[in-house]
Amino acid sequence: MSILIVGSVAYDGIETPFGKRDRILGGSATYLSITSSYFTGDVNLVGVVGHDFEASDIEILRNRGVNLDGLKIDKSGKTFFWAGRYHYDLNSRDTLDTQLNVFETFKPEIPENLRNVEYLCLGNIAPSLQSLVLDQVKSPKLVICDTMNFWIEGAREDLLKTLSRVDVLIINDSEARELSGEPNLVKAAALIHDMGPKTLIIKKGEHGALLFTGNEIFSAPAFPVLDIFDPTGAGDTFMGGFAGWLAKTGDHSPENLRRAVIYGSVMASFCVEKFGPERLLEISEDAIKVRYNAFKELSEVPAHD
Ligand code: AMP
Repeated sequence: MSILIVGSVAYDGIETPFGKRDRILGGSATYLSITSSYFTGDVNLVGVVGHDFEASDIEILRNRGVNLDGLKIDKSGKTFFWAGRYHYDLNSRDTLDTQLNVFETFKPEIPENLRNVEYLCLGNIAPSLQSLVLDQVKSPKLVICDTMNFWIEGAREDLLKTLSRVDVLIINDSEARELSGEPNLVKAAALIHDMGPKTLIIKKGEHGALLFTGNEIFSAPAFPVLDIFDPTGAGDTFMGGFAGWLAKTGDHSPENLRRAVIYGSVMASFCVEKFGPERLLEISEDAIKVRYNAFKELSEVPAHD
């Protein structure tokens, strides 16, 4: 089934304890599209880049079969640039630089032929822009949304309007606490359900993720990866795996939502193994299946009486 992805396409400067890159392909929509392309052949990206965006980076997305009809090339400025530095434990990072560039004046326009898309992924961009996208799509089967502290603090009213129209919200633990004003994550989840999203996923970095749906809670571990080089994009990649699996299967049952969370974790575990999206570009569908099964074993609790 079709997925429409809206988010940033960027150049990133990244420093981790294991190395440094000054300018590599990044952005929430980049990670989302590359990841979901492993699950469905109908991935459509809506975003903007500037005059400095390399033809070779367009090729990277094209080679993954991503439809770029909705990617605007704005010659009046440069591509969105973000720089971050990770701490020793890789769980926390400092943003060193955010240059909105062509993103500053970007208004997402959904091409007519994409308006009846089935799965909509609202990557991390201003909530007012996420709402603008929601206004243009007809009736998606599922709306999946990401956000960050920056918007929770700076655009709360806009964010609440967006959330009232969202089915699944994927955020990290500190964002869930900040959004709900509640330190206990179980209570926070109930408060966030009342804001609109009937399904909530709270990511906890290397400690895994919690899925809250109806009255059920599912806890997934993070895959214990031997070589972690760069966590950039792991959150978006998680969302791409989650959305990709649902778009592939079309099944939103609680059991299948659990599988989708594991696929999200599987894909995120690949993402962190190399810098930027590098590792995500070299894996195979078989490698994804193998890791899914390893995950199953990792977290299986033996029954006893
Ligand atoms: P993640 O590590 O999953 O949180 O995502 C990292 C990606 O988000 C990087 O590739 C950045 O280019 C992108 N990014 C960082 N800040 C923003 C922002 N304010 N708006 C949109 N995208 C951003």
